[in-house]
Amino acid sequence: MSAPILRVEALSKRFRGLLAIADVSFAVEPGSITSVIGPNGAGKSTLFNLVTGYLAPTAGTVSFKERTITGLATNRIAELGVSRAFQIARPFRDLSVAENVRIGALFGKAGARDVARTTRDALDLAGIAHLAEEPASVLTVGQLRHLEVARAIATRADLLLADEPCAGLNPTETAAMIDVLRRIRTSGVTVVLVEHDMPSVMEVSDRVLVLDAGRLIADGAPAEVSKNPQVIAAYLGTPD
Ligand code: ADP
Ligand code: MG
Repeated sequence: MSAPILRVEALSKRFRGLLAIADVSFAVEPGSITSVIGPNGAGKSTLFNLVTGYLAPTAGTVSFKERTITGLATNRIAELGVSRAFQIARPFRDLSVAENVRIGALFGKAGARDVARTTRDALDLAGIAHLAEEPASVLTVGQLRHLEVARAIATRADLLLADEPCAGLNPTETAAMIDVLRRIRTSGVTVVLVEHDMPSVMEVSDRVLVLDAGRLIADGAPAEVSKNPQVIAAYLGTPD
């Protein structure tokens, strides 16, 4: 593996009595798509909150490009090049799609440079260039997810964390979103994805991490992980 873009070491997060993330360690290779799977409440969103600085860990460290980012402010982590696409997109509904994406381009790593071009590129990559002038309020749920991804990558992030970008989408919309994530990876952005749709996960991921009750119970190539008995028991259902 080349130097990992993201390294999580012995990370734990306790909420009162609950160990939501329990001594989790892994590294993410640059240019890859890594999926994090696991049952509801396994700690997937908490893991993203720890990486992006929305939560402080109880123990352990997170490094981005070999630099420790644990304890840095969320905006600082974003400026370094970590961006997150939220499941519930909250766009400025009265602004156009392009204006919403432009806000992403003004923040994060992009700074004020090349805002117009960055905005255009993000709209293109997210497959919503044709919606650029529409008010965000007219978008469907699926289109809003694309807008949220466009906003996230317009920051010129090197690492995109996408938390269930396909939740609630139909199979056609899910395939379109997976396609967008693949294009984002091809553009040079490393992707970490939380996703429930197993066929999509198996198809798009270079690597799959499995969380169960805060613990990392498997970490490997999709084919390998899907055969892991512990994963089958915890998540994929008992084999026939
Ligand atoms: P997932 O995203 O895998 O469904 P979460 O990371 O959202 O799981 O939650 C993991 C566990 O931590 C759950 O039991 C959840 O209730 C708990 N949890 C998450 N965030 C908080 C919080 N801010 N305060 C207390 N408990 C939390
Ligand atoms: Mg979650």
